[in-house]
Amino acid sequence: MQTSFSLLTTSCEQATGIGKRISHALAKLGINTLQDILFHLPLRYQDRTHLTPIRDLRVGDEAVLQGTITSQQQLYKPRLQLITQITDGTGNCYIRMFYFNAKQKQQLKMGARILCYGEVRHGRYGLELIHPEYRIVDSQYIPAMNATFTPIYPSTEGVSQTTWRRISEQVLNILPDINEGLELIPVSVRERFALPSLIDALQYVHRPPPEANLAQLMEGTHPSQQRLAFEELLAHQLSLRLFREQIQKNHAPVLAARNTVIPAFLTALPFKLTNAQNRVFDEIATDMSIARPMLRLVQGDVGSGKTVVAALAMLLAVENGWQATMMAPTEILAEQHYQTLHRWLTPFGIEVGWLTGKLTGKAKTNALAAIESGKHQIIVGTHALFQKQVNFAKLGLIVVDEQHRFGVEQRLALRNKGTEENNFPHQLIMTATPIPRTLTMTAYADLDVSIIDELPPGRKPVNTVVVPNQRREEVIEKVKHACERRCQVYWVCTLIDESEQLDYQAAETTTTTLQEQLGNDIRVSLIHGRLTPSEKENIMLAFKAGEIDVLVATTVIEVGVDVPNASLMIIENPERLGLSQLHQLRGRVGRGHLDSFCVLLYQAPLSELAKERLAVMRETNDGFVIAERDLTLRGPGEILGTRQTGVMQMRIADLQRDNKLLPHVQQAAAMMQQQHPALIQSLIQRWIGMAEVYGHV
Ligand code: ADP
Ligand code: MG
Repeated sequence: MQTSFSLLTTSCEQATGIGKRISHALAKLGINTLQDILFHLPLRYQDRTHLTPIRDLRVGDEAVLQGTITSQQQLYKPRLQLITQITDGTGNCYIRMFYFNAKQKQQLKMGARILCYGEVRHGRYGLELIHPEYRIVDSQYIPAMNATFTPIYPSTEGVSQTTWRRISEQVLNILPDINEGLELIPVSVRERFALPSLIDALQYVHRPPPEANLAQLMEGTHPSQQRLAFEELLAHQLSLRLFREQIQKNHAPVLAARNTVIPAFLTALPFKLTNAQNRVFDEIATDMSIARPMLRLVQGDVGSGKTVVAALAMLLAVENGWQATMMAPTEILAEQHYQTLHRWLTPFGIEVGWLTGKLTGKAKTNALAAIESGKHQIIVGTHALFQKQVNFAKLGLIVVDEQHRFGVEQRLALRNKGTEENNFPHQLIMTATPIPRTLTMTAYADLDVSIIDELPPGRKPVNTVVVPNQRREEVIEKVKHACERRCQVYWVCTLIDESEQLDYQAAETTTTTLQEQLGNDIRVSLIHGRLTPSEKENIMLAFKAGEIDVLVATTVIEVGVDVPNASLMIIENPERLGLSQLHQLRGRVGRGHLDSFCVLLYQAPLSELAKERLAVMRETNDGFVIAERDLTLRGPGEILGTRQTGVMQMRIADLQRDNKLLPHVQQAAAMMQQQHPALIQSLIQRWIGMAEVYGHV
């Protein structure tokens, strides 16, 4: 009997035995259709495929065994319990029960035969099973073993494992009859990457045969599981590529070099561009000289000089009579950029304006008018730039700084702004978070990537030392000396949870204690995530102005804020943070000409892994090396940040575990685009259903 694929897209209630109650419970898990049931994979498995001789039991196994009861004993200490010994001729083990009634005690008598299933543990007398599932059988009984491993599904209240098995069984049974639409990866692609068919993979994962390698299944590395992860990664990859293609169908202004301002600007700069800056600017200029929107990500370690590269790109727009805008994640960063650009560009008669949420009344009206009339050629701001009321006269380029603060959705939404019919602005996204290449190709498949892999000459690395908390006194002395030499200091408290009251108290206590220990000549202040943006900003400005000596901060210290006079940073409990985050924090010092230091003040004792991680910080100042290490030591969430939504939310794939698949996924995506474009929409639909994203285009 042939069945149409569309059956799988119908409601779960199509399965027998699923009524309103269960379908509501399933909906809470995001399971609405029969297809969703297919991709809801078991969490683990039980092995009820064979009887295990008692002799072969190992601690930690879950096993089925059958034997004869050879003794029964009821104990009262330390609490009431019933201990039954069983033997099967190969050895003995025990069953221990804390809850039992008279009938059970009667059943488990000497000489009875018992079939049971449970987890094997170490007991007082030998191996034992605590409260196993059991059944008394007669002496001739030959147990019917399961033909496959028994799946245990992630569940929710009101849906039993029996229900899960029943409905998954029903859906698996339909699969062989489905004519088309189920398999979305064609044979040619599957063969190339040695992927099993979807049916085989699903069948295996839901019902592994008795010979399956359980350890591999538990790790999620079995080829069947990898096939599913592959498909999911492929769908994500294709969705970003498609998105990119759709954007690039738009017309963008041709912003070729005119050399009216740029040569003079470069001559006037107090420094020479590094080779890396020149190369990256060339890549940008090439993109912008084409009538297709640029979509480029520039990665450059803290201090690598991304701002000047952005300024050059913006000048290209201005030289061609277009506006450019630069968006920063916070007011203070926006202001810092505004000041830099104003200082650099005003001498050339270029009008630099700014717009943030803080701007109100007349100032705001004026700013909006200047943006709309085209008077302001370069506009710096926060996301306030992308409000409805902002109308650019002629927007040719959008630069987004410190991109990792923005989620994927924001990145996508932003692309609508300044879009007139047939004029789509070029886009340049800059991040100081070095992202390993494979991860970039996955999370930012819609972007081309340029890397500024060189620091300006004469930059001194931050000297990093790792010190246990027992030596806190010494560290405080060091802070004192630094302040006496009129240097400024960051003292970073790593809170466990930015929202927890107790954590704040800890930061406040640290501030008070430090103030006492350092004495009244040294001014100590606290900045943290619960302050309003303007409170935070005032504190940062005071620190920048030298009115604060020691700034106690939670990890909210603004990325990218320059305080050249701050040359010492203490990070408490650095073991709580990811390496990339530590590296970002450390980048706040060493922005001036002073020798700079970072003290990682850890809470002893440290695990081996934690020691290894902190050692990486001491050994290298290269953000890319650190990011690679972070990826192997802690996984991608760390690098991309929790705010990174959308692309990183995978159902089956795990970017760390499945890292090795990524290059193949790239190739497969290209094959799909060239040879099987008709399947792409269905793949995306199955895994992402990115309706809201496509809605933007
Ligand atoms: P980031 O990449 O972290 O945004 P910035 O653009 O803020 O770095 O640059 C850091 C500092 O280095 C700034 O003071 C900037 O003027 C300076 N700078 C940038 N490029 C060079 C260069 N080629 N040579 C010397 N100094 C530079
Ligand atoms: Mg910067």
